[in-house]
Amino acid sequence: MKLPIYRIALVILLMLTITGCSLLSGQGTGIFLPSPGGTEEQVDEDLKRSRQPKIPLTDGFDFPVGNRNGAGWAVTGYDFMQWSNYSNSWHPGEDWNIPGVGNGDWGELVYTIANGVVIFSGWNTALGNIILIEHHLPNGDKVWSQYAHLDRRMVYKGDTVSRRQQIGTVGRGPENRFAAHLHFEIRSQPIPANAWPRTAGHPWVRSRVLEYWIHPSNFIHSNRP
Ligand SMILES: [Zn+2]
Repeated sequence: MKLPIYRIALVILLMLTITGCSLLSGQGTGIFLPSPGGTEEQVDEDLKRSRQPKIPLTDGFDFPVGNRNGAGWAVTGYDFMQWSNYSNSWHPGEDWNIPGVGNGDWGELVYTIANGVVIFSGWNTALGNIILIEHHLPNGDKVWSQYAHLDRRMVYKGDTVSRRQQIGTVGRGPENRFAAHLHFEIRSQPIPANAWPRTAGHPWVRSRVLEYWIHPSNFIHSNRP
């Protein structure tokens, strides 16, 4: 059988391409060639880093509901480190409401308190919809803000967010078990979004809780933009 000359040329070209690829793969993969002296493992590490979103530094902290000063809202539910019989533990955050409206604050907007990156956005059977955001301060410190019982979540894991960006709405938790409010925490440690200061039904002692959680309003007041 006689092959037309262009088909022979095509086969030769293909073989050259394949050989070229196999030669390249000995040096690295795809377009990501190792830096001089680098191993493939190092290339993979470089790649991972380059795919991580660049986390914007914070330029101050605002309140999570109302205007940036939290006007019209107050901590009328459980306060930070108030003992909660409901959960048999110290309450590690603040419960924010519009005073006197009952469930009238259901659906009100929730804002991220500072620039950062979303670490978790999802559902938990105890806390309902949760968003957890990591914040990098210019001095090198890190804190994590957590927003729970949300009705809606507007940001997702890996999203970078800017201070005052809308991230969700106030809700009532799982099966609407609470009066509408924002459960809001600031953590000083990278603990899971659903972390709670209680182990196997036993509440943590105060001092241990304070190793992981900080006073949200006090922190915001001392870090205004
Ligand atoms: Zn709460």
